[in-house]
Amino acid sequence: MPVEAVIFDWGGTLTPWHDIDLVDMWRAYAVAYDVADPQSLAEQLAREEVARWQRQQSTSGAEGTGALDHLFAAVGIDVSTARHGRALAAYLAHWDPHTLADPDAIDLMAALRRHGIRVGVLSNTMWPRWHHEAVFSRDGLLPLIDAAVYSSEIPVAKPHASAFVAALSALDARPEATVFVGDRPWDDVHGSQQVGMRAILIPHSRLGDQAVDIDVTPDAVVSRLGEVLAIVESWRDA
Ligand SMILES: [Mg+2]
Repeated sequence: MPVEAVIFDWGGTLTPWHDIDLVDMWRAYAVAYDVADPQSLAEQLAREEVARWQRQQSTSGAEGTGALDHLFAAVGIDVSTARHGRALAAYLAHWDPHTLADPDAIDLMAALRRHGIRVGVLSNTMWPRWHHEAVFSRDGLLPLIDAAVYSSEIPVAKPHASAFVAALSALDARPEATVFVGDRPWDDVHGSQQVGMRAILIPHSRLGDQAVDIDVTPDAVVSRLGEVLAIVESWRDA
């Protein structure tokens, strides 16, 4: 089988899973936003975020994640203010220790590209493209990514088929010649297989109540990201 492209999930796949306290993350925003009761604002933002993730999950991605700006609008924050800009920067900086790339990622992506295989990213995320690109750039991955699709920019999210079609289209790749790598059986494995891609599962993430009970069979399971290369080579050479 020809392999034209490999598309990676981001959270829990290209960047290792961390257990995150969303209220704590939003507290960094709320403190910098300088309100009388930052804890209350942090809880409100976290509730709004969780509601959006639950809606994405319960609609199988037909309702997407939306973008952070939608979330801010929902709690009445004016995103045109300098105060918001400072708070957003503090929030994103608070995430920094949790967004570091898996140490295998850079060599894997470089090797795929040496084989003439295009590298893509498809992420369910509310964050803006510019921030994801800054994170990838910090870790040396940005020049190795041919195309990325973020659910913050499209009306749907994984596992909706249209999200995967958007990623294939961005890479100009055929589903039957494309491999998807992700950490979620429902969003990533089911989602990519339903459009005809092969799926590799990295089952390390503690999904907890984000897990969807589904019976799927990945085409391969790896214990670390670097093992993806040998699997892709074996399929390509079969
Ligand atoms: Mg993930």
